[in-house]
Amino acid sequence: MKICLFWHRRDIRLHDNAGLAAALASGLPVVPLFIYDRDILDYLPNKADARLTYIFDEVEKLARATEAAGGTFLARYGKPVEVLEALVQEYDIAAVHSNEDYEPYARERDTAVGQMLHKHSVDFLLYKDQVIFAKDDIMTKSGTVPKVFGAYHKSYLAKLTDDLLLPFGSQEAFTAERLHRLPEAQAGSRPTLASMGFERLEQYVPTADLPAEDVVRNYHKTRNTPALQNGTSRISVQLRFGTLSVRQVMRQAKALNPKLMAEIIWRDFFMMLLWHYPNTATEAYDPKMRHVPYRNNEDEFRAWCEGRTGYPLVDAGMRELNATGYLPNRVRMTVAGFLVKHLFIDWRLGEKYFADKLLDYELANNVGNWQWMAGTGAISAPWFRVYSPESQLAQVDPELKYVKRWVPEVVSSAYVAPIVEHKYARDRAVEAIRAARIAAS
Ligand SMILES: Cc1cc2nc3c(=O)[nH]c(=O)nc-3n(C[C@H](O)[C@H](O)[C@H](O)COP(=O)(O)OP(=O)(O)OC[C@H]3O[C@@H](n4cnc5c(N)ncnc54)[C@H](O)[C@@H]3O)c2cc1C
Repeated sequence: MKICLFWHRRDIRLHDNAGLAAALASGLPVVPLFIYDRDILDYLPNKADARLTYIFDEVEKLARATEAAGGTFLARYGKPVEVLEALVQEYDIAAVHSNEDYEPYARERDTAVGQMLHKHSVDFLLYKDQVIFAKDDIMTKSGTVPKVFGAYHKSYLAKLTDDLLLPFGSQEAFTAERLHRLPEAQAGSRPTLASMGFERLEQYVPTADLPAEDVVRNYHKTRNTPALQNGTSRISVQLRFGTLSVRQVMRQAKALNPKLMAEIIWRDFFMMLLWHYPNTATEAYDPKMRHVPYRNNEDEFRAWCEGRTGYPLVDAGMRELNATGYLPNRVRMTVAGFLVKHLFIDWRLGEKYFADKLLDYELANNVGNWQWMAGTGAISAPWFRVYSPESQLAQVDPELKYVKRWVPEVVSSAYVAPIVEHKYARDRAVEAIRAARIAAS
């Protein structure tokens, strides 16, 4: 019997899933699939990884939901091209449906998968799902890639009709008639964390529900107060792994808070930029910023990682990140700015450290924001702007409520002295970058 596969990647949900809805409407019985990708997992820094634990639990929920609906859920551990080729040889598969992924690795993987499937006369069909506008959906009037957020935001709002936010009916169509149940022996067992060589590590992830309405309504007033536990939406992990759909969160934000809407638009914006400029995952967008002589002092980098810089907001942030895998946006900006300007350490080292630690780690958002802070990006804070971590602290946590939670010794003599003086560090970075820019032009 001919079947089709729906390959879940960063869309670990049944509801409002564009590709899954298309597979279920294709007329062929569907078998959902998840691949624990060795091309990613082999490079995870630790065997106990909270993100993999989260993915695993969510995939298991999908598998149970598929079985309850009368279908079979396949899960495999391996390299996607090899796993899919083996499945194509085992079953009579007419098509593989999946949702688009815009990261450079994912694009290479999908090209290779597409070529392999083509060889076996299997269709590979991809759908836009994780963003509302992708690739060149929004361009400037002269047809170039938008690099001014204000103008992009304006065009985005002008194009955003309610139709684009309607949910796809994947959950409603997820029925025994449209699914395919394989004999148990054929389906094979699903990998476990242990069978893949990993251990469980649980870190707090908000449940996959929309944020409470009052949180969204107050967002513009509370988002820059890190002491508040509910000052922001806390949807980033769900958006990262697709346990919430972006249309769902955008509908709520559109109804209740334009500021939150704008932040979600930043996410589309950075994904669009990374799609156009995949090289910026690892190098400065601005050629004049590619040869900045960063100091990369290892001891200072370690002090930053461990929250021992003597700057309370920086130290609180790094300790929160290490303990929880999360950091509020305003503090992300402070710690990033401090690393790239005050310690004058390459943004790529900070980006990598965040990538290892953040539960919501997202290449496009991480690189986009790091390059913004370093002044190297397609869109950036001016390279000569150096925010004072002390002024930042006075603005966002004047009573040290947030800082004392993570750096209890801050008001005692046990607290470390500042690793570097602000004005000295600012001048050092600005002069070195200025010289590098002149040399490059
Ligand atoms: C140096 C640095 C690194 C960052 N790395 C990441 C990352 O790896 N993954 C990630 O998802 N976000 C990253 N961000 C953006 C932002 O800090 C987080 O998205 C946000 O803090 C997540 O918490 P929240 O869901 O409560 O956000 P909210 O403030 O409630 O925003 C809602 C959603 O909008 C999007 N969003 C918000 N701010 C931004 C932004 N500045 N850029 C792009 N999208 C945004 C996110 O999807 C977020 O979940 C980074 C920011 C900085 C300054």
